[in-house]
Amino acid sequence: EPGILKINETYDKPFVTGCLEPAVDLPRANGAFVVLARNKELDGVIQSMKSIERHFNHWFHYPYVFLNDGEFNESFKATVKKYASSDVEFGQIDPSMWGFPDWVNHDDAKEAIAKQGDRVIMYGGMESYHHMCRFYSGFFYKHPLLDKYKWYWRLEPDIKYFCDITYDPFVHMERHNKTYGYTIAVKELKETVPNLFRYATAYKRLNKIPTTGLWDMFADRSEPPKEDVADSADVTEDIPKTSPRKPLPDIDGENMEGEKYNMCHFWSNFEIARLDFFRSKEYEDFFQMMDKSGGFWTERWGDAPIHSLAAGILLDTKDIHYFRDFGYRHTTIQHCPANAPGKQLTRKPFYHAEDMQRNKRLAKEDDAYWANYDTPKHNGVGCH
Ligand code: GDP
Ligand code: MN
Repeated sequence: EPGILKINETYDKPFVTGCLEPAVDLPRANGAFVVLARNKELDGVIQSMKSIERHFNHWFHYPYVFLNDGEFNESFKATVKKYASSDVEFGQIDPSMWGFPDWVNHDDAKEAIAKQGDRVIMYGGMESYHHMCRFYSGFFYKHPLLDKYKWYWRLEPDIKYFCDITYDPFVHMERHNKTYGYTIAVKELKETVPNLFRYATAYKRLNKIPTTGLWDMFADRSEPPKEDVADSADVTEDIPKTSPRKPLPDIDGENMEGEKYNMCHFWSNFEIARLDFFRSKEYEDFFQMMDKSGGFWTERWGDAPIHSLAAGILLDTKDIHYFRDFGYRHTTIQHCPANAPGKQLTRKPFYHAEDMQRNKRLAKEDDAYWANYDTPKHNGVGCH
C-alpha cells in the first residue's frame, strides 16, 4: 500500500514499553523545548506546559525557548515562568526570519494569499500562517537562542500528553542514532500543496540523491484516480507566478519519475529532532530551492510536509523514530499508545543511554528481548 513502509524487519523498535522509575539522576542531553506562540495564546500555552510538566518535565527539567514574531508581554512571561520547572528564555524573531523577503513582490504575494482565501483553502488566506510555516521550514533552527542546543522538542499551544514519559527521549535518540522523531503521521490537504512535490523531487533529482527506503512513505507510484487529476489541475490553474520559478515538468503534483505525493507527512506540531539536520548544507539547499519557487505564498505549504519530504530525501528509515509510546493529542487528532499497532508489552525496559557499565545486564536482556520482538505489519510507519 502506498504510504506504508514495507520494511518490517528493519524498522526501529520502541525505545521503552511498560513503566519504570524515571532516571532522574542521569545526564541530560543538550536539548530544549521550542514554543512559537503569541501573547493571546497564553491559555493554550499553559495547558500544554501543565501537560508536559506533569507527564515528563517535572522529572527532567529541560529548558524552554519561547519565540514570537512580536514581543512577549510581561504577564505572558511571568505566567509561563510560573508553570516551568526549568529555565525559560524568550526571544523575538528578527524580521529577516519572518515575513516576505526582499526578493518577492509583496503585492503579488498578498494577492496570491487572498486568492487562496477565496478558494477557502485551510489557512490559505491567512498571511501570518504562511509566515509561520516558512519560519518553521527554514528559520527556527537559526534563531540565536537555539544556537547552544543540539536537540529540540517542539511544543504547541493546546496540546495534551496522556501518558507519563518516564525516560529521556533525547538521550534515547542520541543512543540509537536517530535524527527525527514523530508520533502522528497524517495526510495533507492536497489543495495546500499542489506543486510541493514537483519542487522537492526536482531537488532530489538535480542533486542526484539516491532514493532511500523512507521515500516509500511519501511517494505514490500508482496511477491516480481520474478525478484527482482534474482536481489538482483546477487548483493550480489560477496561481499567480509571483517569483522566479525554475522550469520544471508541467504535470501538476507529479515528478519526472511518474511518482505523486501521497500527502503523507509527519505532523510537525510534535517533533523531537536534531537541529544539525536542519542546519546541514543539504537541508539549507533544499529550503532555498523550495523558498525561491514562491510556494510559501503561491500555495500554502506547511512546515510539516516540508520537513517530511526533506527527511524522505535526505534521511533513511533507520534515522526516524516513531514515538508510538507517547499519548498525544492536538485539536481533533490524537495518538493513543494502547491503539498503536503491535503487541502490548509489559516488560520493564532498559532505559539509559550513556551508563552502559551500570546497565550492562539490562542491556543484554533488552537486546535478547527485542531480537525476538515480532514486528507487526502495520508498524505505525504510515499515515493515520
Ligand atoms: P495549526 O496547529 O496548524 O492549527 O496552527 P497554529 O495556529 O497552532 O500555529 C502553529 C504554531 O505556530 C503554534 O505554536 C502557534 O502558536 C504559532 N503561530 C501561528 N501563527 C503565529 C504568528 O503569527 N505569530 C506567532 N508568534 N506564532 C504563531
Ligand atoms: Mn496548533
